[in-house]
Amino acid sequence: MFSNFNVMPKYKHLFFDLDHTLWDFETNSIQTLEELYAKYHLGKSFGSFNQFYERYEENNNKLWIQYRERKTTKAQLNFDRFYTPFSEVGITDENIALNFGQDYITVSPTKTALMPNAIEVLEKLKLKFKLHVITNGFREVQNIKLKNSNLKQYFYKIFISETIGASKPKTAFFEYAVKSCNARKNECLIIGDNLETDIDGAINFGLDYVFLNPNKVPHTRELMHEISDLKELIEIVKS
Ligand SMILES: [Mg+2]
Repeated sequence: MFSNFNVMPKYKHLFFDLDHTLWDFETNSIQTLEELYAKYHLGKSFGSFNQFYERYEENNNKLWIQYRERKTTKAQLNFDRFYTPFSEVGITDENIALNFGQDYITVSPTKTALMPNAIEVLEKLKLKFKLHVITNGFREVQNIKLKNSNLKQYFYKIFISETIGASKPKTAFFEYAVKSCNARKNECLIIGDNLETDIDGAINFGLDYVFLNPNKVPHTRELMHEISDLKELIEIVKS
């Protein structure tokens, strides 16, 4: 696949976001929530799983923004994202939300669905590049995901916001990652699915980037590279 390399590739270090970029967060999360929805007999309170999931999703997205802005804590986020939708349907026992949240954190990272072609692409890229992970998730959770899904073996370094003390898109996060690899900025490529955290983070620190948009969600941004399948990365890093 790399037989057409006539010159040294521009990049030496490829930094991959984890959730939604390599690890199929949505599939794994829905699978977990469906299991827990049954375990906690939520069908008695919600009209359907989808009704619960929509309320959870909307609320969870808001909380993650607050977490990135340091307006909430990890524990509070994991409580609120379940307590809010539960309380809307009359489940006001805080212990239920706490236990559900704990179960979610325990079960979800053990799921192993990956984005299409993730392993195939990493197998090829690892021959020519140093691969790293850059992720905003929780340390213990992200490490379990990497191990269980067999992704860990592909990466030299794993950068987790909780460990670094700064989250994407903060420049401090990207600066830490690049420096830790003894890399020059122009040798680095960021690959991620989130326009704010991954792409704006890369732009603000002056790094090249690839936006992975698997569902081809429309946007108005002018981007350096946009792909809908990880396979397309191979062509981009060749030159
Ligand atoms: Mg992501």
